[in-house]
Amino acid sequence: MVFAPDTAQSLEAAVVLANSALDPDTLTTVDALTAFYEGQGYSGGHRRDGAELDAVRAIRPRLRTLLLAERDAAVGQVNEILADARAVPRLVRHDALDWHIHAVDDAAPLADRILVETAMAMVDVVRADEMGRLGVCAADDCEGLVLDLSRNRSRRYCSTTCGNREAVAAYRARQKA
Ligand SMILES: [Zn+2]
Ligand SMILES: [Zn+2]
Repeated sequence: MVFAPDTAQSLEAAVVLANSALDPDTLTTVDALTAFYEGQGYSGGHRRDGAELDAVRAIRPRLRTLLLAERDAAVGQVNEILADARAVPRLVRHDALDWHIHAVDDAAPLADRILVETAMAMVDVVRADEMGRLGVCAADDCEGLVLDLSRNRSRRYCSTTCGNREAVAAYRARQKA
């Protein structure tokens, strides 16, 4: 295990959310936000309205910048997010989840909680000096973020779609040669 389960989960969610902004945007309705919220196992307030959707959509560029930042640059962004939100980390246990960290009130806006959760996860990434676990998809025409939690650091593509497409392209190139 590279990171604690809640850190891995927060990074995974942040990558999914940041990648939803890629063309074509897949987070354009409240239903899509609810599917993301439920799919990523979030708890706490979820207002299911347009204002919340806009707020969550608006943090996506900031998440992408943070997830792709150099180590020292990430520190500044993490500290700023935690200070802005007046984060107070505490251990909690709820639903089926074992002890993990919450750093803002469960009633805080969803977008703020996602930002702080991602910042808390990046605290671990920076401290472990594992920035290399985050990168951009190796497929030619894809800007998708990749989170590589594999033991042998072998993940290169943001999705199986990209992996398959590249495999087919490599096969065709070999046939031609
Ligand atoms: Zn929790
Ligand atoms: Zn990709």
